Amino acid sequence: MAGYAVFAMNIQEILSLLACPACHGDLSLHGEPTQADGLICQNCRLLFPIRDDIPIMLLSEALPLDGDQKKPANS
Ligand SMILES: [Zn+2]
Repeated sequence: MAGYAVFAMNIQEILSLLACPACHGDLSLHGEPTQADGLICQNCRLLFPIRDDIPIMLLSEALPLDGDQKKPANS
């Protein structure tokens, strides 16, 4: 529980400090603030995954948002 609270505070601080490595634009959270699993750059349509509470700010690790959204549901 405490861990979540710390994470929630940290992620907001992280958001204010980090910028997209491609366009240096603002990032937004993907998912709930306490359970975010990625950071999104709306300019680049990229999602940077968060692993073990650490945002992976690498273009090589970023996932394309468009591709993700267009992917058909599991069937
Ligand atoms: Zn960007």
